Amino acid sequence: MKQELIERFIRYAKVNTQSDPNSHTCPSTSGQWELARMLVEELKAIGMEDVTIDDNGYVMATLPANTDKNVPVIGFLAHMDTAPEFTGANVNPQLIDSYDGGDIVLNKEQGIILSPNDFPELAHYKGHTLITTDGTTLLGADDKAGIAEIMTAMNYLIQHPEIKHGKVRVAFTPDEEIGRGPHKFDVAKFGAQFAYTVDGGPLGELEYESFNAAEAKITIKGKNVHPGTAKGKMINSIKIAMEFEQQLPAHEAPEHTEGYEGFYHLLSFQGSVEETKLHYIIRDFDREQFEARKAKMKEIAASLAQKYGNDRITLEINDQYYNMREKIEPVRHIVDIAHEAMTNLGIEPKVKPIRGGTDGSQLSYMGLPTPNLFAGGENFHGRYEYISADNMVKAAEVIVEIIKLFEQKTS
Ligand SMILES: [Zn+2]
Repeated sequence: MKQELIERFIRYAKVNTQSDPNSHTCPSTSGQWELARMLVEELKAIGMEDVTIDDNGYVMATLPANTDKNVPVIGFLAHMDTAPEFTGANVNPQLIDSYDGGDIVLNKEQGIILSPNDFPELAHYKGHTLITTDGTTLLGADDKAGIAEIMTAMNYLIQHPEIKHGKVRVAFTPDEEIGRGPHKFDVAKFGAQFAYTVDGGPLGELEYESFNAAEAKITIKGKNVHPGTAKGKMINSIKIAMEFEQQLPAHEAPEHTEGYEGFYHLLSFQGSVEETKLHYIIRDFDREQFEARKAKMKEIAASLAQKYGNDRITLEINDQYYNMREKIEPVRHIVDIAHEAMTNLGIEPKVKPIRGGTDGSQLSYMGLPTPNLFAGGENFHGRYEYISADNMVKAAEVIVEIIKLFEQKTS
């Protein structure tokens, strides 16, 4: 399994699939088409059935049931794109056999070193086969590791027909990193009752709680007058914007919160006397608190409107996604089965809330409850990203074990 995983992963990593938030197409970039077509061929080559690719680049395939039992159809998903914030062009993965626990020189010329002094988690990987970058790009283990693991798990099941299982659906999706992964995902066509994204971090991660998320855009109109004759006339929109920000609780910000704490995050502040625009994101695990945060913003905007005039302040709030826990709790056994699968394989499950969202947050609200499983990588979205091939094997084994457990638990 290990060699297969390494080969698949490196092949996928070399295709530049960096997504682009400014593109309006789906997938947002043509590299994702390239990888999608490659995956279609590989799915067919290993013997998957109903291999399809739709007009938006979503790849789907079926592993048919080999039992008469009425096992629920389950799905596994991974995303093809890599993060927009760091280059994904010319990824050149480096293989380190039985890592000695010391510094890893990623790039000699540029003096780029992956060191346990900066990344103490490296200690967990002594003796592992690691895959790193060459220091100039990201690696794309997020989420090409997930793709390689799903593909390898399917191949394993096809090669081992003695393992009984129900129907399994797999999907490889575009544009997760720009929040659009599920936008054009056809839940009905996928036809699974439950699914798992294989898109988490280190070994054992199991996630079924995400933020409730909204974004807020505030536009403040000022009135510019020559500063020499501005008395009683000028309205400086920058200062009103500062007043807005100051009325939010200073400690409820990303830099002061962790665990289950929510926040307001001022993403950008662009202003002149005449006009200032504020862009916030609002995050909270608790739905009531989340609503209260949005209400708080409306209150502040209303009080400033009263003070400076109604037409000076506009506030636009849009919900982005919700905590998937609400949708997963009623089908809690899908989390329990993942938990059991890991325990059976000697992996300690690490259940934690995602301080962000995943495709699963949106999919769960589209009628497909979808917790998230570890894919194994570390330091996502940058040059220090790496992954253990040994843990990729474990991720593929977890997929196989979940599939087995669903069959075993069906009478
Ligand atoms: Zn990801």
